[in-house]
Amino acid sequence: PPRRVTLVGSASPYFPSPTARNMPKCPYSTHDITQTLRQSFRLQSFRENQLEIIQTTLSGKDCFVLMKTGGGKSLLYQLPAVLESPKITLVVSPLLSLIQDQENQMNDFVPHSCVSFTSGMGAELHNANWSRVRDVTGGVMMILVTPEKVFKSNKLKSELQKLEEQNRLGRFVIDECHCACQWGHDFRPDYAKISVLRTHFPRVPILAVTATASDQVREDCAKIFQLSSDYAYFRSTANRPNLKYQVRPKESAADVIQDMVAFIRENHPRSAGIVYTYSRKDADTVARDLCSAGIVAESYHSDINAVQKRDIHESWMRNETQVVVATIAFGLGINKPDVRFVLHHTLSKTLEAYYQESGRAGRDGKPSDCVLYYSPKDVPRMIRMIDGESNADLFVTMVKYAQQFGDDKACRALILRNMGEPNQTLEGCQGLSDMVEKRDVTSHAATVLQLLQLHRNENMTMPMLVKCWRQNPKQAPECVRNNPPGKDLTPSDCERIIVGLLVNKLIEPNCRYTAYDTVVYLSCTPMAVSFIKSNKARMTLPLPKKIAKTGKMSSKSSEVKETDNAKLTKRKRSSSTAGREKKALPMKRS
Ligand code: ADP
Ligand code: MG
Repeated sequence: PPRRVTLVGSASPYFPSPTARNMPKCPYSTHDITQTLRQSFRLQSFRENQLEIIQTTLSGKDCFVLMKTGGGKSLLYQLPAVLESPKITLVVSPLLSLIQDQENQMNDFVPHSCVSFTSGMGAELHNANWSRVRDVTGGVMMILVTPEKVFKSNKLKSELQKLEEQNRLGRFVIDECHCACQWGHDFRPDYAKISVLRTHFPRVPILAVTATASDQVREDCAKIFQLSSDYAYFRSTANRPNLKYQVRPKESAADVIQDMVAFIRENHPRSAGIVYTYSRKDADTVARDLCSAGIVAESYHSDINAVQKRDIHESWMRNETQVVVATIAFGLGINKPDVRFVLHHTLSKTLEAYYQESGRAGRDGKPSDCVLYYSPKDVPRMIRMIDGESNADLFVTMVKYAQQFGDDKACRALILRNMGEPNQTLEGCQGLSDMVEKRDVTSHAATVLQLLQLHRNENMTMPMLVKCWRQNPKQAPECVRNNPPGKDLTPSDCERIIVGLLVNKLIEPNCRYTAYDTVVYLSCTPMAVSFIKSNKARMTLPLPKKIAKTGKMSSKSSEVKETDNAKLTKRKRSSSTAGREKKALPMKRS
């Protein structure tokens, strides 16, 4: 079984464990808390550190909780809200759809216990809700609002003031609190202004929750929300044992669609999934292609109007649309527990973003698949897109993940290490998918660096460099003539090596802007020189397995691809699917 990491404030020496200091006592017994869990929420037991967190927030301490998506963050404030009634819990949540979900959920558990205040609401309902909140016997335990409401609405402020005077403010909850921080994804400027809650009501404890792990995000949030200096920090393991991770090679657009269709048909013929794409255009194309293959898919991105978005979301929630093909615009606020697969048509911006996006699968705990389709060609494309973004540096974490080409264990190990859980990586780190092997590519790496140096006065893009490297050795510069890639390497292997050099910072990308486009040029870093000269430096890379050497080079390269593909799709399949696979094979030319 996966090891559990339950760090209570101990991830950083600056936040000693709350249990180690004089912690104010939780005013409710474990027995009372567990009774409420069973009676009001109809759940049997707490997960991981839920009880500890609930006790800490009930004791009045500020808490920052990092818990994976689907981990059960809502219970952390729903349960105290029930216990402390008629005190009121104010929950700030970034999206109307999330607010709606939460409101329904809470009212299912405890009828009439939850109201929301959103901008679209009529004044009458607004006033009716407020008078229910003011009424001590009104049964309201929780109020849900958007961040805008918090700092814009004087009404809210004065109502909270009245509650505070009656000692009826239980706690402030900031859901998806990473939205306040511009380093993370989903940055929402309005979130930072929630700090007025602390300024106006300094005695009310704050509970900030998120699934975003970075220390930077946590430190920023603590500052922005003015958490007390001794706030308790809880994190639970990022491991999602029910998710199966894999990286699959992406040779061409047609190839990916075909593999996706086969994958969905065989593994999840009737379950919902998401496909993430690089651009709106890709989303449209992929959705169309999936539809032509008989899979009910819709594309979802920022060009689609609000009504269409809602329709697509709802029909997917009802399992009428099987697959939503989306840009990352489809993210925050998806609350479907039974998503069985998340396929990435291309790389995410960071490994953490990949973890979040793929983590939308399997929130109900049942086995689900997370597949990344990777082509080294996508690397310059993505570099272009994220150029200038604040976390562009972290793209390398994503590329390393894609390049390692691992099996589930290796993927999981890398993800967990990236989330700051090194202990989880001890076993299985070397697990490679069975279609690849580790190869020593040192000499080829040196050759390509020499070649790039030779052309340092030209603007070399990755395709140009590959072409130059793979030209007829007779006409090629000496470094290539002595060590041509042809015998050993497919074009895609060559691209992988170049990306490997980028990851190892022997090559660096430079983005140049033209009138129409951004172009990524490659150049050697100073480290490249020592790599070429050194006889110790080595570079190994997982590459698709070589097959027995037969025939000439040209036929060989297509054989490699066929073998890859046969292995790729070697899962049991009906003869009709196998037939389709075979027919499509000759198309594979990128
Ligand atoms: P998130 O951490 O992403 O906000 P939620 O709070 O929406 O997750 O919870 C995800 C699911 O887990 C919900 O269906 C919730 O009912 C369930 N859940 C939470 N706590 C427990 C528990 N202790 N036992 C069983 N199910 C739980
Ligand atoms: Mg949540």
